[in-house]
Amino acid sequence: MKRTFSLEIFPPKRTSPIETIYRTLDGLRSTQPDFISVTYGAGGSQNAGNTLDIVSKVQNEYQIPAVAHLPGLHLSKDEVVQILERFSNAGVRDILALRGDPVDGAPMPGDFPYAADLIRFIKGIGDFHVNAACYPETHPSAVSEADDLRHLKEKVDAGAERLITQLFFDNDKFYRFRDITDALGIQVPIEAGIMPVTNKKQIERMVSICRVHLPKKFVRLIDRFGDNPVAMRDAGIAYAVNQIVDLLIAGVSGIHLYTMNNPYVAQEIYTRVVTLIRA
Ligand code: FAD
Repeated sequence: MKRTFSLEIFPPKRTSPIETIYRTLDGLRSTQPDFISVTYGAGGSQNAGNTLDIVSKVQNEYQIPAVAHLPGLHLSKDEVVQILERFSNAGVRDILALRGDPVDGAPMPGDFPYAADLIRFIKGIGDFHVNAACYPETHPSAVSEADDLRHLKEKVDAGAERLITQLFFDNDKFYRFRDITDALGIQVPIEAGIMPVTNKKQIERMVSICRVHLPKKFVRLIDRFGDNPVAMRDAGIAYAVNQIVDLLIAGVSGIHLYTMNNPYVAQEIYTRVVTLIRA
């Protein structure tokens, strides 16, 4: 089985010029990822532009397969058709179909209340490869773990061909999740989402949004190095490398690196694990 190694990037903030992302891509190119996915702000169709520009560049100029994220909550069917047409015209036919989180003041057409609705719609209108998100530690707003897993199965039954996990720091949570999804008959590849934590602020934010378990050794790492930026960066890289090596030994289908648009960190990690990924 070929294991995938992929990267996630996000469009630069409105205050930064779009060109900053191309410097990031220049730095990431050497890691030869199987694909690069590009996030999409959930506020509505006006956010499509940046994602479209970037996936198009990744696919056509950098010649790296691109995956376009697409959160459907604030989009109508017509808007989704138009956005997909734009992706498709740029040669991008690989979509990460998401629900997205509600954005205050954004329109709520109600065509895609959940990701499964969007996945079914996309599969119904064209030849797209569709990915979906999954949550080894359960989605934060899920009624229960069992309910969340039932809805995950609905996404796969609707046509999701690959799953990408929410970030996690405790591999045992992932292994448990994989056993459960196996038992549920979910057979599509599950890529493990790994986020190298290279500064203390980042972890505080991530934990409050994603509600993931922090193992004791990870908390000790933050306590020990959190106030020393260079040491924290190197410790965060080392922690992510250890996580990835352990996952590869356990036969993970793929690694999806949340790069935070930091090519240095992605390259450091890639260099240390590349022979194992390709072995
Ligand atoms: P869903 O699968 O629809 O699930 C959302 C919640 O609803 C879950 O609690 C689920 O249990 C519940 N649910 C599902 N179906 C039903 C149903 N029929 N009835 C009742 N409850 C149901 N967000 C962005 O805005 N842009 C991005 O680019 C982006 N990229 C992401 C990439 C990855 C790899 C991941 C893991 C997340 C990403 N997100 C992104 C965040 C994502 O949009 C949020 O986590 C969102 O809250 C859930 O999206 P989902 O597609 O998993 O939703």
